[in-house]
Amino acid sequence: MAKMKAAVFVEPGRITLDEKPIPSPGPGEALVRVTTTTICGTDVHILKAEYPVAKGLTVGHEPVGVIEALGAGVTGFEEGQRIIAGAITPCGQCASCFQGHHSQCGGRPMGGWQLGNSVDGSQAEYVVIPNAQANLALVPEGLSDEQVLMCPDIMTTGFAGAERGKIRIGDTVAVFAQGPIGLCATAGARLLGATRIIAVDTVAERLAISKRMGADEVIDFRRTDPVAEIMRITEGRGVDVAIEALGLQETFQSCLRVLKPGGTLSSLGVYSDDLGVPLDAFAAGLGDREIVTTLCPGGAERMRRMMGVVASGRVDMEPLVTHRFKLDDIEAAYDLFASQRDGVLKVAITP
Ligand SMILES: [Zn+2]
Ligand SMILES: [Zn+2]
Repeated sequence: MAKMKAAVFVEPGRITLDEKPIPSPGPGEALVRVTTTTICGTDVHILKAEYPVAKGLTVGHEPVGVIEALGAGVTGFEEGQRIIAGAITPCGQCASCFQGHHSQCGGRPMGGWQLGNSVDGSQAEYVVIPNAQANLALVPEGLSDEQVLMCPDIMTTGFAGAERGKIRIGDTVAVFAQGPIGLCATAGARLLGATRIIAVDTVAERLAISKRMGADEVIDFRRTDPVAEIMRITEGRGVDVAIEALGLQETFQSCLRVLKPGGTLSSLGVYSDDLGVPLDAFAAGLGDREIVTTLCPGGAERMRRMMGVVASGRVDMEPLVTHRFKLDDIEAAYDLFASQRDGVLKVAITP
């Protein structure tokens, strides 16, 4: 049986390159030869055993590749076509999907997240895409792998944070944390018509890229109290929409404190601890505020739209790819990405 290289979760603290048989696609599935993939913050949670997956699972959920083989029943695609699939690969047929909650496919929290979670993922030479018909999205002519590499996860997630915040033309928006997802939320806020975007982080490189992605003002929260500064900038009004893109009590709370009455807190962070809601910032429950949470929208149509945004030139995602590694050097890539050294935002991994 032909073998392939794959990055597998071995035990807490260890993701290593291993050999596995090249899988064959079952009915409704597609086998994709991965040409480029990347590492997500969630993979680092897996590495540190903060998010549990089965030992021996191939990790990764951001595939760019070429269709190698199609399982029975997959129509409208051909071998050799360049595709991406979202990090979330919903079935498109269950009650949750029909209600538009694709990420919660099957009625389970995060049920749409299969790649590198419940089935083998994309940090490998080959990956099987489940529910291929609902999830394969053809890469438009002329777009490079790196140009579409952010579409499967951070771009769709960050944009969704802005969309779920219901940003309107002329809104003032605060985005807490400018990691890859926060940067995409900033870009999404700009696309949706926010005219004052205030981004908060500490890393100088991230604050610089934040301005390129659409931030009007950036706050280094080590030097400046972001809540006081945002209230000063908004003349005490607060922001229309506050986006949380880190997953910490402190940033969640800061979002509430800068949010105007009637505003929306759009939360993208992955929290690993209980969250508290401070009474004063919550106006005792009478502030008409909305709190919404979002998990990475996937599916073929969403991916088509994300690639359409890239093709239109309205947003350039390439500055987010700061480092490049071969799949053979995946452990070094994890080491760099997990430590967030050297201004790393996203790493491109090529088998
Ligand atoms: Zn991810
Ligand atoms: Zn479903």
